[in-house]
Amino acid sequence: WVKSDGRDRWALYDPERIAHRTTRQVLATTMLPALERGEFVVEYQPLVELRGGPGQARLRGVEALVRWQHPEFGKLSPDRFITIAEETGAIVPLGRWVLETSCVQARDWLERFPEAELFMSVNLAARQFWDSDVVADVAEVLSETRLPSRLLQLELTESAVLGPAGRPLEALHALADMGVRIAIDDFGTGYSNLAYLSRLPVHVLKLDGGFVEGFQEGASREADEQIVSALVRLAHALGLTVTAEGVETELQADLLRATGCDSAQGWHFGRAMTAAAIEELLRGGAG
Ligand code: C2E
Ligand code: MG
Ligand code: MG
Ligand code: MG
Repeated sequence: WVKSDGRDRWALYDPERIAHRTTRQVLATTMLPALERGEFVVEYQPLVELRGGPGQARLRGVEALVRWQHPEFGKLSPDRFITIAEETGAIVPLGRWVLETSCVQARDWLERFPEAELFMSVNLAARQFWDSDVVADVAEVLSETRLPSRLLQLELTESAVLGPAGRPLEALHALADMGVRIAIDDFGTGYSNLAYLSRLPVHVLKLDGGFVEGFQEGASREADEQIVSALVRLAHALGLTVTAEGVETELQADLLRATGCDSAQGWHFGRAMTAAAIEELLRGGAG
């Protein structure tokens, strides 16, 4: 009895809404069995150092980014399932699996390409701090893989760290004491309390892609450059290094280098790719 074809009318039985909700439910209930079946894969996106002249960008590390190779829906990006995984709690075993898989990979690269000293950066969800012993997990994975802790970086969002004090803060200190590097992901999209962050065992700020987006011909370009330059200076003064996300063009890379930003990530330097493709880069091959 509710018509769904009116353009701006909210409809209880909107077929699209129902399909969306059903897909969510299907993804939610099949995630753990899918993890068991091996349907998840990790891709790796280059993290490059910006020091040196224009055009120079040394591969220093990679970020592990999970994908769901779904038999019916194809390759699903994390935007489709990470929030669901956080809601259901599946992020705990999934996150543990990503950590282990990527550390095994990093250890393998350290053995085969020792001079590259490639580090692995892994995303952690807030729920992993509250619903599991993430410190024990990291310690276990490091000891099992024999990956030196200096080659592991953990990415957390501001909301995970700046939430109610307690578990996450204690965990952060324990992880830093192990020699693991802590990065604040998507910096600039949350509370951005830099003074507070600098008092925590945090080592790296990952500037959200939104900052670099303004690095193009246009009215606000200079303002955006000023903001990033000031942020970089402030971060350096507080003992933090800065990585910029979402660098898509040569111009953005050049302007970013001029701000003093330490490192970068983005399609201009390389998309998330298979481990084999990263190895091509390590061999210095263009492909
Ligand atoms: P993130 O951690 O901020 O990762 C960066 C995202 O930006 C990735 O999206 C990456 O593919 C994308 N990206 C990289 N360079 C560019 C660029 O030049 N332009 C644009 N427009 N985008 C770029 P992706 O792989 O879809 O991942 C989305 C988010 O899902 C990640 O954002 C992260 O928050 C989350 N995620 C991915 N893997 C994991 C995981 O294993 N655990 C947890 N907890 N979250 C994960
Ligand atoms: Mg990240
Ligand atoms: Mg990010
Ligand atoms: Mg982001």
